[in-house]
Amino acid sequence: MANIVVLGGNFAGLTTALEARRRLGNTYDRIIVISRSEDFLFVPSLIWVPFGLRDISQISLPLKPIFDNHDIEFIHAEATKVNIDSQVVSSTAGEFPYDYLVVATGPKLDWSVPGTGPHGYTSCVCTPPDALAMREDINKLLDSPGPVVVGAAPRAGCMGAAYEFLLNLEHFLRKHDLRKKTPITWVTPEPFLGHFGIGGMRTGEPMIRQMFEHLDIKWITNSEIVSAGSNTINLGDNTELEASFSMIMPAFIGQDVVTNSTGLGTAAGFIPVNGAYQHQRYSNIFAAGVAVDVPSPFQTKVPIGVPKTGFPADVAGKTAAYNIARLIENRKQLRQRPFGRIPGLCVMDAGSKEVIMISNHLLRPREFSLLLPNPFYDGGKRLFEKYFLWKTAHGYSFLP
Ligand SMILES: Cc1cc2nc3c(=O)[nH]c(=O)nc-3n(C[C@H](O)[C@H](O)[C@H](O)COP(=O)(O)OP(=O)(O)OC[C@H]3O[C@@H](n4cnc5c(N)ncnc54)[C@H](O)[C@@H]3O)c2cc1C
Repeated sequence: MANIVVLGGNFAGLTTALEARRRLGNTYDRIIVISRSEDFLFVPSLIWVPFGLRDISQISLPLKPIFDNHDIEFIHAEATKVNIDSQVVSSTAGEFPYDYLVVATGPKLDWSVPGTGPHGYTSCVCTPPDALAMREDINKLLDSPGPVVVGAAPRAGCMGAAYEFLLNLEHFLRKHDLRKKTPITWVTPEPFLGHFGIGGMRTGEPMIRQMFEHLDIKWITNSEIVSAGSNTINLGDNTELEASFSMIMPAFIGQDVVTNSTGLGTAAGFIPVNGAYQHQRYSNIFAAGVAVDVPSPFQTKVPIGVPKTGFPADVAGKTAAYNIARLIENRKQLRQRPFGRIPGLCVMDAGSKEVIMISNHLLRPREFSLLLPNPFYDGGKRLFEKYFLWKTAHGYSFLP
């Protein structure tokens, strides 16, 4: 009988736990998920929360019933440390020995750029409390319109969400007939529009440039945000941008449980894995989702991160679960799905329009990549949200 402990219960952790149970069947193997959050959260829909288009309750599901239905123990707690020698996880709910460990704790937001973040002067869309708090900032902007800055800090790796937020905000201000009073500037560490931390996609840059020109959005690429003040965003080249409202996507780093655990992660708190999502040094430790270390292959003027989005989190979770089941069955050959070779598939909501990103591999070399307006129906992301919540509520982790 093996003890499998999964840290984190959202995209990657939930998929790994459910898939491990499916692979192992109703054996005596114990699967325990420790998660700081009681609920599954469909994070991609957070971009709609500031505009009142979604409430948090519409995009979350309680985790316990899902796990109960699949013979998985759920512990609502924060994992605080992993002792690799004794194979024990410490948490706010006690200690949990493991035979196999999966780290799926997602990102911690790095607010080290002075003045950025909800405790500074810029808004944030990455967590439920921050997305809800932004409603008030947006109301203030409606009452007293002025310049808007949206963008990303150096090393940010979630550029797609920042673009989506930008275009939703533009659409929202246009609907309120305020665009002439709210000049918008996009500041990005990307070397060109539509780089997204993956080197761009065919047709991407010209399409986004045209869209920005059409919507009258100014942009500054290669920009290094060095600080934010009460009404300014300051760049490394001494440019000072006036901002009545700003939303800056931070860089992601790993969670404290990783940095507090000797030997577990990199200095930034991510888990170094091989193509099987197995730790490079410890064969019984796996990682999935944002917790996986994916060094950026790009040498850019301002550093950028690689986007670790939902689809690769799902693939990594499934691969880790499959491989743990193989090891438990004493099989040696593990499935390999290296991050860069996973196909890219993403629907980006652009306010009144949708953009589809497709590539045969997330990172180069790629034979095929394309960014195009959705030719069918501009509610693809909304449909996907409904599908994903349905799939999650039923625990159908084997579905795509
Ligand atoms: C605003 C926004 C929009 C996005 N839009 C898209 C999109 O349109 N498409 C897309 O594919 N991707 C999108 N992403 C990225 C996507 O959300 C991530 O890829 C996905 O959430 C990664 O899943 P994960 O399980 O690794 O991390 P998370 O979803 O962050 O889950 C990590 C879980 O671990 C828990 N946890 C953390 N630390 C501990 C601890 N110490 N102990 C116990 N539990 C812990 C957390 O509470 C959380 O529940 C977006 C991201 C953001 C921020």
